[in-house]
Amino acid sequence: MITGIRIKNKSLTQNNWQQCLAQAIRDPETLINYLELPTENLQKTRQAHEKHKLLVPLNYADKIKKGCWDDPLLKQILPIEDETFVVKGYISDPVGDLDASLSPGVLQKYQGRALIVTTGVCAIHCRYCFRQEFPYSEANPIKNNWQQTIDVIKSDSSLYEVILSGGDPFVLSDQRLFSLCQQLATIPHIKTLRFHTRIPVVLPQRINMNFLKYFRSLKIKKVVVIHANHANEIDTEVGNTLRTLVSAGATLLNQSVLLKGVNDSVEALENLSHVLFHYKTLPYYLHLLDKVSGTAHFDIPQQKALFIMEQLRNRLSGYLVPKLVREVSGKRSKVAIV
Ligand code: SF4
Repeated sequence: MITGIRIKNKSLTQNNWQQCLAQAIRDPETLINYLELPTENLQKTRQAHEKHKLLVPLNYADKIKKGCWDDPLLKQILPIEDETFVVKGYISDPVGDLDASLSPGVLQKYQGRALIVTTGVCAIHCRYCFRQEFPYSEANPIKNNWQQTIDVIKSDSSLYEVILSGGDPFVLSDQRLFSLCQQLATIPHIKTLRFHTRIPVVLPQRINMNFLKYFRSLKIKKVVVIHANHANEIDTEVGNTLRTLVSAGATLLNQSVLLKGVNDSVEALENLSHVLFHYKTLPYYLHLLDKVSGTAHFDIPQQKALFIMEQLRNRLSGYLVPKLVREVSGKRSKVAIV
């Protein structure tokens, strides 16, 4: 049970985020028709969809230019034939998640920090996702009201930060999410909760009054790392949601993945940094692609990434330049690419 929080007027705080999620587009044909795209590649799209299902909320689909195959948002969510190709070096667990397991759904890779895979559910399915083959059904920490997870984290006083990841932790119900948060917040050695989420960008309706009330009431430092790859993802509604999270006590950071055809240009990343900062969010990491099976078509040469970074440093204030990093399985920190 969530304790210590009263909802005075439920009708004022109810919202329709679950309805928005239920209405999300879940099959290629519907998306292609919705976006007025030619149907000639539908069969190939279906094959990729069978491997990693398409899921996109309508408000995200509405930001995609109709009839445009090259739209940077479309490329992030549309299954394409390239995903079905087997390419050497692209594997199911490139970041070593499975070797880092402390208990079901609890990972530790870096000193002082543990990560909880809170759910396998997301509000959108990103085609480049590094966890698309993660065995969510086996690594389910929610059993017994998170008890085993809490015990593991309590037992290690060297931990100072817990990262709630997934899937997307913000798709959990308020009850489940904040029950976990409140239990973690009472552990004396845990000073910070960090949330890795794409929800504020792809389903901002989720950050409603109830959510904010619970979030604000957490007596612990809160870091929210959102995930946006292109400035077109951040409209006024998303931006206002980001500001609201800051008002509720969050330190707000963004991580992006450098993706061919999406944001592999100086201009795209420069625009993204400016828009993020306008909405009180600092660029944090720019990840080189995690080499998960079916994503080779998104990869770009490291030399090109370094060139883009050099140009960004020339154009932007230092605090607007994200760190270019790669996650290497087994390393004790992200590897900075310089
Ligand atoms: S929201 Fe995050 S976890 Fe979910 S599919 Fe996208 S990248 Fe993967």
